[in-house]
Amino acid sequence: MDIVNKILCVIKALFTNLKHRKAKISKKELAIIETRPVLILTKKKKPKSKKQRIKALAKEYSYSDDPLYLAANHSKALFDKCIAVLHFSWSYPSWSIESYFVNKKRQANSSLGIDRKGKTVRYLKNILNPAWTQGVSNWRKNVGFINYEGKRIKNVNNIAVSFELENVNYQPFTEIQYEQTAIRLLWMLNRFENFRLWLVTGHEQIIPIKKDDVGVSFNWKKLFVEYCGVRKDFYDEYLIYLANTSSRSTVGDKQRSFRKWEEIYEGVEKIRNDLIGMPKSYCF
Ligand SMILES: [Zn+2]
Repeated sequence: MDIVNKILCVIKALFTNLKHRKAKISKKELAIIETRPVLILTKKKKPKSKKQRIKALAKEYSYSDDPLYLAANHSKALFDKCIAVLHFSWSYPSWSIESYFVNKKRQANSSLGIDRKGKTVRYLKNILNPAWTQGVSNWRKNVGFINYEGKRIKNVNNIAVSFELENVNYQPFTEIQYEQTAIRLLWMLNRFENFRLWLVTGHEQIIPIKKDDVGVSFNWKKLFVEYCGVRKDFYDEYLIYLANTSSRSTVGDKQRSFRKWEEIYEGVEKIRNDLIGMPKSYCF
């Protein structure tokens, strides 16, 4: 009898325990389910990468979107654009960058101006108008300007879109300046059939004897690889060329300027061999 009782007790205990445990578990589960946030069925969109974001912004951009501060010196002539030239303004940050080109005494203008906070303005009604920031320089006198097909073009001013980046004393350019520049360069790729990113250059690479901008503190690799998303290997030759020929001023030192010019010619030869004739899609 005792044994039967014991067995029955054990069975009862087991059942009660099981029931209790079951109930406990289900309660816990219920609590978990109740407090669980509602599942979001739509997959969360991954945040766009910097390159994707800039590409998207470039698609939406149009030159006429930028506020106009009409340059005092400008021509109404229209020319197709195939290169971009970067400059620094050498104006103090407290200066309004737009006051420079609307001043008649300055005898200069630019297509675009980008201040250190990324505020961008245009100085021409139409981007096809010539920008005169290159002065009257005849770029690469001996070799001529080489376009994407390897043809020589003499008048840089007519074919260039110029960017005046606010900077003084070779200070580092701001991230937003790179970003705003990249948006407009990528837009140019769609807008101008003959434009290539390897046809972006600094003022000093055009005329080192007179100019020293965009200068040694401009990070070309950052612009091309990080912001414009070009293939690293593809741009190596060009980046090496730009790095070799970007320097603190050689202006006023003819010997150094001429040495720099020689380096530029050598660099141009390499670029000619590597990149000329390549389709636009090749660099992405
Ligand atoms: Zn310049």
